[in-house]
Amino acid sequence: MHTTATHCPYCALQCGMNLRPDEGGAGVEVVERAEFPVNRGALCGKGRTAPAVLSSRVRLTGPLIRSRAGRLEPATWEEALDAVAAGLSATRGAHGADAVGVFGGGGLTNEKAYSLGKFARVVLGTSQIDYNGRFCMSSAAAAHQRAFGLDRGLPFPLEDVPRTGCVILVGSNLAETMPPALRYLTELKENGGTLIVVDPRRTRTAEQADLHLAPRPGTDLALALGLLHLVVAEGRTDEEFIAARTTGWAEARAAAMAHWPELVERITGVPVPKLREAVRMFCAPESAMVLTARGPEQQSKGTDTVGAWINLCLATGRAGRPLSGYGCLTGQGNGQGGREHGQKADQLPGYRKLTDPAARAHVAGVWGVDPDSLPGPGRSAYELLDALGTEVRALLLMGSNPVVSAPRAAHVEDRVRSLDFLAVADVVLSETAALADVVLPVTQWAEETGTTTNLEGRVLLRRRALTPPPGVRTDLEVLHALAARLGVEKGFPTDPEEVFDELRRASAGGPADYSGISYGRIAAEDGVFWPCPEGESGTPRLFLDRFATDDGRARFVPVAHRDAAELPDEEYPVLLTTGRVVAQYQSGAQTRRVPELNAAAPGAFVELHPRLAARVGAVEGRPLAVVSRRGRAVAPARITDTIRADTVFMPFHWPGEGRANSLTNPALDPVSRMPEFKVCAVRLEAVES
Ligand code: SF4
Repeated sequence: MHTTATHCPYCALQCGMNLRPDEGGAGVEVVERAEFPVNRGALCGKGRTAPAVLSSRVRLTGPLIRSRAGRLEPATWEEALDAVAAGLSATRGAHGADAVGVFGGGGLTNEKAYSLGKFARVVLGTSQIDYNGRFCMSSAAAAHQRAFGLDRGLPFPLEDVPRTGCVILVGSNLAETMPPALRYLTELKENGGTLIVVDPRRTRTAEQADLHLAPRPGTDLALALGLLHLVVAEGRTDEEFIAARTTGWAEARAAAMAHWPELVERITGVPVPKLREAVRMFCAPESAMVLTARGPEQQSKGTDTVGAWINLCLATGRAGRPLSGYGCLTGQGNGQGGREHGQKADQLPGYRKLTDPAARAHVAGVWGVDPDSLPGPGRSAYELLDALGTEVRALLLMGSNPVVSAPRAAHVEDRVRSLDFLAVADVVLSETAALADVVLPVTQWAEETGTTTNLEGRVLLRRRALTPPPGVRTDLEVLHALAARLGVEKGFPTDPEEVFDELRRASAGGPADYSGISYGRIAAEDGVFWPCPEGESGTPRLFLDRFATDDGRARFVPVAHRDAAELPDEEYPVLLTTGRVVAQYQSGAQTRRVPELNAAAPGAFVELHPRLAARVGAVEGRPLAVVSRRGRAVAPARITDTIRADTVFMPFHWPGEGRANSLTNPALDPVSRMPEFKVCAVRLEAVES
């Protein structure tokens, strides 16, 4: 039976899978693709059940327009596209180009992300474009840029992980977020390597660790500084590496020496002997890695926190060498590619800077427009959402559900409701799409071809395996039709390979150079690592000879601990941290529509320690209210001693009264503009059921 080799629509691991026609012949089913190296055939439940969302029972199959009576009513594509073009141009005419916003997603393919950025800047002429990937990776990206001069999530393939000597995994629960990746850690231990997990919860991933450090949420920066202090104090620095391949050590060293172990124990709650043990484990082998995820990154000091972990790697010579280095485990399916090709507020394709005259000239040349016509950088994601209804009055949204996934979500929902005009392109009627004036139903992963770039920087090809239902169009077709209605007849092809060929030219010579990558080459090599200039091979391992800075040296950045934006007090005495569960994905827009996944994870919960439960009168399985300065959420209590007694955890996949993001703090990192999802102050109130 014919099968199509493709990739999962969800997370950044981008597991390989084969699709074949199902028994009825109307849909597809997933079968193993053992030869794809990243997951070697393994899939989590989300990947295995992904075809369920292709069913017409759960998806949008025709455009909708809000009627005078306020209801979303079926419409033709012509009516819907005319309405979107009219809504966007009316706002632009009345209030200027920057009154029109565009919000994208880290799940969009490279072709879509590229076209959306071009659409915003060339067709709408607006600077107001950003995307939900800002919530996912921007602190690590900023720290990467600062230290190494280049941001690629992992500078090495995952296959290197089991062969290193020690991994410090910071704020990542791979067992729930990317289960097939857990085997890399299992193999690490089988090979004699050691695993240190940093997480305020003893997660299923932390259970695998040789050493689990459970810092108070919001104190990872102090923890990293404390480890670096001990590295220096115990004479474990690699002076030869520091002298040959880095700059800025004296300042970073001085900053670390101000964070002595007893102080760090007071800040983090991690005992000094455990700090010493971590340093011993990290420094003993020839090679070691630090991998971070959303835990340390989604903080108002996320860039500095990641920077502190990078400093630890540099001071010990664990960077720019085989089997050593710092890497970020990007979250969303195309979180990596999505940030490289122009849907980010400050960037042009190829990871070029919008403020760089040479970059503007190059990309404008590819687009056939005057460089001066390109707008400058716009607002970051939360700031854009916060400006809806005031400075930004109309919005085109693709592949995102901020009403559930943005911090301070009730406020964001209020802002979305206050828009003059909202158009949403999505596959399901998400909570945000339900508020739109026009909803455009679009094709899904198995119904269209396009590339994504996984967390390793490996560019992959998703292939069309199924004919889409007649009532839906691709995002590229939507942008093509809207551009034509707004007066730009050319430059928005609907063929993804044609878009990719233009993207290659636009990225040529940029930091994320895709010019040597083609659909044919991806298919032949089962993925190509960027940078890959024309005529060259891809680059699985970065920085082995030099870092991507002007002088080729990595830069230490002196950083110091500072408190989270909100600390517990008498009124809000408990810390809240948020995260994911294995059976749901991000805002749950797709996975909440899969019965098998819903049965496994039907709703939100509040995880808390028995001592805290006793103090607030929480009872297992009974509703518990969590209240912050921004809102209130109610969900059943789940009592466990695997979490710190000063902290509660809520997963963030659900809308309604269990919406965790009703509580979260939009305090922004000053460099990355990443909101502080991972820590805020709350109080708990038992609720009569
Ligand atoms: Fe899909 Fe990620 Fe699960 Fe792999 S780990 S099957 S990419 S959701």
